[in-house]
Amino acid sequence: MEVLRVLCLSVLFLELGAASGNLEQRLIFILLDGLRYDYIDSVYTPNMDEMAAQGVKVDYLTNVFPTFIPSKISLVTGLYPESHGLVHNHMYDSVHNSYAMTANKNDSYWWNSGIAEPIWVTARKQKKTSGSIDYIGGFAEFGGVRPNKFTDNPIAELRSKIDTAINWLRGGMDVVVVEWTYLDVVGHMFGPLSTQVGDGIKKCDENIGYLRQKIREFGLEDQVNIIIAGDHGMTEVSNNNVINLSDIIDLDNTIAYIAESPIAMILPKDGFLETMYIQLKNAHPNMTVYKKEDIPEYYHYRDHYRILPIVAIADLPWIILANGTDVGQMADHGFNNEEISMKSMMLAEGPAFRSNFSVESLNAIDMYELMCKILHLKPAPNNGSLANIQEILVEPSSATACGIYTLLYPILFILLSLTKN
Ligand SMILES: [Zn+2]
Repeated sequence: MEVLRVLCLSVLFLELGAASGNLEQRLIFILLDGLRYDYIDSVYTPNMDEMAAQGVKVDYLTNVFPTFIPSKISLVTGLYPESHGLVHNHMYDSVHNSYAMTANKNDSYWWNSGIAEPIWVTARKQKKTSGSIDYIGGFAEFGGVRPNKFTDNPIAELRSKIDTAINWLRGGMDVVVVEWTYLDVVGHMFGPLSTQVGDGIKKCDENIGYLRQKIREFGLEDQVNIIIAGDHGMTEVSNNNVINLSDIIDLDNTIAYIAESPIAMILPKDGFLETMYIQLKNAHPNMTVYKKEDIPEYYHYRDHYRILPIVAIADLPWIILANGTDVGQMADHGFNNEEISMKSMMLAEGPAFRSNFSVESLNAIDMYELMCKILHLKPAPNNGSLANIQEILVEPSSATACGIYTLLYPILFILLSLTKN
């Protein structure tokens, strides 16, 4: 009878384990800056292909508008830029009365204008450990909290970033976020179809193979989930497609302006708003100009004071400059995020994810909810939805298993009561 008793208790403990989410789940999230949706089809990528076959592949990942640094912060907070407050790479803040690049690293003011809580902060607040390897903002305080560990060397080799991540995971860290900017840099310089981008993808592939091998080698495969995703695509631009603001308005009549990409923002001096808006509105057939409050809802880009009163958005592949005709690069991003060339993709693998499962399209705004689910964290308020993304998780089969165990409960309790005698 004792054997039966031990057996019954073991089954019950197994069930309790399943109900509480199985083994401790951990996560490494690798952001490949500028990974366009079709890059992995352009060269031989055996490791990424194998990862897709054994895990999940999302063909098109739509990041939030505008697909600059704001979309990187949206990936890890689940907030649109109008909520997290990092509204562009280069911003003017009327409260602070100053300009800043988002990378104004030592001034936490710039990172705390909204309600942003990156995944590494959510983890720490709930007694888990987190680390950032060169992820934008990972060096900054959000609500006074930084990751347990962080590095800040965006141009470091991907191999050294992965070695650091592996060390941290072996040390028990719950969530590690990594950013690698190389693909974005060569995409801008040489264009999305360049051999430099192709070589960068091969390098990604080798390092993803290395990461997967190390995870197996150190016996972490039952705990560690891997997500690889990009923050935007890339499209060719040229000096033939430049809209020059100073040809249209007198920039001396502005307090501030941002114009360096497909998006321009303008804060006119008092009394100049209407005139400037009318001057801009019909100035160019490939530029749509909005008063801030009229920006279409689908951009989720109007309810923050750092979004300036006039916003102009260029059609692909036009670039808006303040005063000049040289775009200074072969390619860019930041256009309407529904444009196919602005889309990225995603791979995921690990105990939380389904196997050999592909999805045509997901939204990056839901990624934070996904990460919280994997890590058993209560998400901070955000704009994402777990329901929109959870089909890639194995949870449904766990639920089935729980259902079977639940049917067994009465039988087990009867057997246990018998073994007491
Ligand atoms: Zn870029």
